[in-house]
Amino acid sequence: MAQTKNQEDLIDVLIVGAGPVGLTLAAELLRLGVQFRILETRPEPEKYSKAANLWPRTQEVFAAIGVIDRLLAESVPIRTATLYAYGKRMGHVTIDGYSSPYGTPVMIGQNRIERILSDHLVQAGRSVERGITFTGLHQNTDYVEATVEGNGKHETVHCRFLVGCDGNKSRVRNAIGLSIHPERLERRFMRQIDARVRWSRSVRDDQIWFSFSTLVISVSFLYQKDIIAFGSLTMIKVYPIAIQLLRKCKK
Ligand SMILES: Cc1cc2nc3c(=O)[nH]c(=O)nc-3n(C[C@H](O)[C@H](O)[C@H](O)COP(=O)(O)OP(=O)(O)OC[C@H]3O[C@@H](n4cnc5c(N)ncnc54)[C@H](O)[C@@H]3O)c2cc1C
Repeated sequence: MAQTKNQEDLIDVLIVGAGPVGLTLAAELLRLGVQFRILETRPEPEKYSKAANLWPRTQEVFAAIGVIDRLLAESVPIRTATLYAYGKRMGHVTIDGYSSPYGTPVMIGQNRIERILSDHLVQAGRSVERGITFTGLHQNTDYVEATVEGNGKHETVHCRFLVGCDGNKSRVRNAIGLSIHPERLERRFMRQIDARVRWSRSVRDDQIWFSFSTLVISVSFLYQKDIIAFGSLTMIKVYPIAIQLLRKCKK
């Protein structure tokens, strides 16, 4: 039989996951006056950075939410990219001056973005419920029943909408029967490293460098005080070289 529920017993939106997507959704719902809860399985905020670029449109969204000044205060602008291929300088591209009130792309660690969005919720009297994991759902006629657990408790949450912002291994996606079939590429992988590097070229922080060969390396200089370089390596073929490089970077 179809299940319905008294509307006053429902929360509007249950957000699963407090990465950048879940936190941005929470901040937008806050701005629009929509009632929500946001759950996050990790007990502590992420310490390390992952994604780093904020393009103009994303900055516009953060301006509407009201956090852009705090984000820009912790960002560095990116104005140029220099490209190398197999040791040869291929060119220099200007990435600035887009038609937007925020026309300069910036770099900022994803952990900082998450902290600023979390603080924004706290300042409005809301917060991420940490240490709580979404475990399953049941779709009824006009509401969703979600099961969550953590901090020694099991709970059933009734909501009008449940939004899965729980990343690439999404349990929400599995619960609604959607699946993706990722392909693992043999001997190819990507690593991101926050490291202090020796570097004979410019270390101005408003630029990004790409070098393509068997290793694709991108380097940018973020936060000169605490992180000198922020780079990713994509190892295309040569696994032993990759391991050596990673060992060196760890030292
Ligand atoms: C090393 C690395 C480097 C990257 N570099 C870049 C880059 O340079 N540029 C770029 O655009 N992107 C980059 N990315 C990708 C970028 O980080 C992701 O696109 C982004 O994190 C996606 O955000 P999200 O909020 O959707 O998911 P996530 O950041 O994965 O957040 C999902 C959250 O949901 C929580 N969660 C998961 N399951 C549950 C559950 N059952 N219950 C409750 N909570 C749950 C997780 O703990 C997590 O906090 C990188 C990723 C990695 C790993």
